[in-house]
Amino acid sequence: MAKGREEYEARTAARNAFGKDLARRAKSKCELCERGGEKLSVYEVPPVPRDPDFDRCLLLCSDCIEQTENPRRFEPGEHWRFLANQAWSDLPMAQVLSVRLLRRQAAGQDWAREALEGLYLDEETEALVAEAD
Ligand SMILES: [Zn+2]
Repeated sequence: MAKGREEYEARTAARNAFGKDLARRAKSKCELCERGGEKLSVYEVPPVPRDPDFDRCLLLCSDCIEQTENPRRFEPGEHWRFLANQAWSDLPMAQVLSVRLLRRQAAGQDWAREALEGLYLDEETEALVAEAD
């Protein structure tokens, strides 16, 4: 048990160490919805590797994290429209997460289905999208 806890704490510390560089990249805005003035936290896009990987991390607001992380809290709808733009993001993990969230609600949301229909994903990105969710 103690070992598991130590590993967990070491992992959390390693992940939190990314915070500064992520903050510089994110310019104080959520890297998914782009809202500023929110409390931002490091979010690891699943599947989460054994050791935290900077390139798999995004700095997100608590709203985005909560709904993304917890499918039962996820509320489909127009407030996710920003995903249609983010699905074209140059930031690979922002793109991957956006496509996953669009797919999660495409059945009930016309705008999400349309956003996906107009989207081109290369094989590599498609593979990343399919890794989880
Ligand atoms: Zn957000």
